[in-house]
Amino acid sequence: MSSERPAPRPDDDPTVLPGIGPRTAATLAEAGVHTVFDLLLHLPLRYEDRSHEAPVATPGRPGDRVLVRGRLDRVSRVRVRRRLDIVRAELRSEDGACLPVAWFNQGWMEERARAAGSVRLWGVLRSRRGGGLELVNPELSEVEDRDVVPVYRRLGPLTGRRLRGVVHAAIRCLDGFEDPLGPDEPAASGVTGLGSALRTLHEPTLDGLDEHLDRARERLAFDELMRLAVRASIRRHEVATLESPRLVVDDARWRMMVRSLPFELTAAQQRVLREIRDDLARGRPMARLLQGDVGCGKTVVAALAMALVVEGGMQTAFMAPTETLALQHARSLHQLLEPLGVPLATLVGSLAPAAARQVRRDIASGAVQAVVGTHALVQESVEFARLGLAVVDEQHRFGVLQRQALVDKGERAHLLVMTATPIPRSLALVVHGDLELSVIDEIPPGRAQVRTVVRTPDARPKLLAFLRREIQDGGRVFWVFPVIEGSEANEIPALLEHETRLRADLAPARVGVVHGRLSTSEREAASEAFRRGDLDVLLATTVVEVGLDVPAASVMVIEGAERFGLSQLHQLRGRVGRGTRPSWCVALTGAPCSDRARLRLELFREVDDGFRLADADLELRGPGEIEGVQQWGHRGFRFVDLSRDGALLTRARETVARLERDGRLAEVARVLDTLYGAVGARG
Ligand code: ADP
Ligand code: MG
Repeated sequence: MSSERPAPRPDDDPTVLPGIGPRTAATLAEAGVHTVFDLLLHLPLRYEDRSHEAPVATPGRPGDRVLVRGRLDRVSRVRVRRRLDIVRAELRSEDGACLPVAWFNQGWMEERARAAGSVRLWGVLRSRRGGGLELVNPELSEVEDRDVVPVYRRLGPLTGRRLRGVVHAAIRCLDGFEDPLGPDEPAASGVTGLGSALRTLHEPTLDGLDEHLDRARERLAFDELMRLAVRASIRRHEVATLESPRLVVDDARWRMMVRSLPFELTAAQQRVLREIRDDLARGRPMARLLQGDVGCGKTVVAALAMALVVEGGMQTAFMAPTETLALQHARSLHQLLEPLGVPLATLVGSLAPAAARQVRRDIASGAVQAVVGTHALVQESVEFARLGLAVVDEQHRFGVLQRQALVDKGERAHLLVMTATPIPRSLALVVHGDLELSVIDEIPPGRAQVRTVVRTPDARPKLLAFLRREIQDGGRVFWVFPVIEGSEANEIPALLEHETRLRADLAPARVGVVHGRLSTSEREAASEAFRRGDLDVLLATTVVEVGLDVPAASVMVIEGAERFGLSQLHQLRGRVGRGTRPSWCVALTGAPCSDRARLRLELFREVDDGFRLADADLELRGPGEIEGVQQWGHRGFRFVDLSRDGALLTRARETVARLERDGRLAEVARVLDTLYGAVGARG
């Protein structure tokens, strides 16, 4: 029946495929599968080698999964009781050996088994009650079946087995498929054609399997990077042709502004501010990424840029990823901006409706010139009179789309993105290819050193004694857990399970708690109490990871440290040593800890430079460690594995440059977007 259907097209709705009706299609759509091509991007989890047929006479031992070949005979069906329906048969091989087969609650197998000719069965052996073996619930296929069979993860209502059939039908859309890069470009870029890559991934042959799969996956990773690189390149060009307000302050005024600060700028801060001033004066929209390790002082850079924009008669908005951070930034920006005569408004979700309305009115009328907030700032109801500069902090928490949404609140507003997540330059050029890069590579002077130690559970009593002394002496302690609550099944240290005992162990220290299950105001209250010194210890999950600034905090204990990525550990460590008090970071490991994890912690102990750590991390991570990729903050990488595809970054950029020279970039961008869906739609 399926042979009479016309071949599907890549952009067809999945309902053109046999066995997919509107209801299945609706659930597929929820899983992000809207087209036949999307279905082909649902890659097999693994592949089963079915090239080894077991002899029917001696197929193996109970529990073995085996492939056997023969003809089915003596098919019968028994309904044992209401919920138990068994189809039985015997598999006979050419040499006359015989193996009993049973399908449980698969009544439809009766007809298939009767109709089948020579078949291959793939299933699990088990002992039969009366002695001997039987094959249970095997998959049945006619003999010309493949040697390597893809195994799929379930997708909505489609089981892995059904998917195999559906994908097989979908593959036909690749007949006459035109490569989105054009006919010659794949070869020129050194990647395999997309059509053949997808065929290989879904219907590979045993010959040279691993190598072919690698090449095929590489093509999907390449396309994923291409989509980013193309986007970045196009945006960069768009921006280059736009005009923005020129925002200039003369040097005398600028010096006065800088002098109003409570400290001297570091050379790196000065350099970056020079870059930003030049950008703002140029008459084209600034699009700059400010990268700097935790504690290097990015906020003051933002504050001066904001003040400069307000001096120029425009508005500015600063967006932070969480309410706690927005409020903290509001505090520190206020201190920096007030001496410069720039009042600051705040717009966060927890604001009372009337107050929020008032802020929005003031933003719209231009009465407010500088505002700090969360993504509440990009709500539709927010309108700016004349937004000149959008500052986005810790941008990896926001999608590109959200950051653009803020910029679009103005007319060609300038953009400053700030991040402490150090990513290798090659990656930055692709992921943030539309942004100019500024780096602060210097920590302000007078900072206390943070000493890092790695400890096993038996060091706990000594640690507690040390902490009690430290607290008595005026120090303050963060204690971070990987999860809030554990489960019986795993041994991940959980905050709620340690809380009671730690309160007792650390008594009379005042202990507070911050985690994601508390309301924003509860979290804020605890953070604030810790900052003020009303609490000595803050038990927390990684909500404290980004940005929390408590200069008196002197010890960071990281429980279950082997469970965190290097960048995350480094972020956590950055919460202490922000004042002048000598500080400690204690990485506590669980009892058994893999070699790899130990190596990582060793690095963490030795290297205190976030950028070097990031590079080392990239080298250390093995293929397929998805968590590692997320750690960079680029949710949304689906096929790229940075530990493996690093070199592809450069190739993707070269290809983009070539397409651009040939004037084909826009066209390829369009085709890629149609095929894969727009970048940024995910994550
Ligand atoms: P981050 O880059 O992590 O956002 P912050 O902007 O929060 O860092 O700065 C960290 C701390 O360093 C703040 O308390 C800030 O006031 C202080 N700071 C920033 N720049 C300097 C400087 N040039 N000299 C001394 N202290 C500084
Ligand atoms: Mg910060």
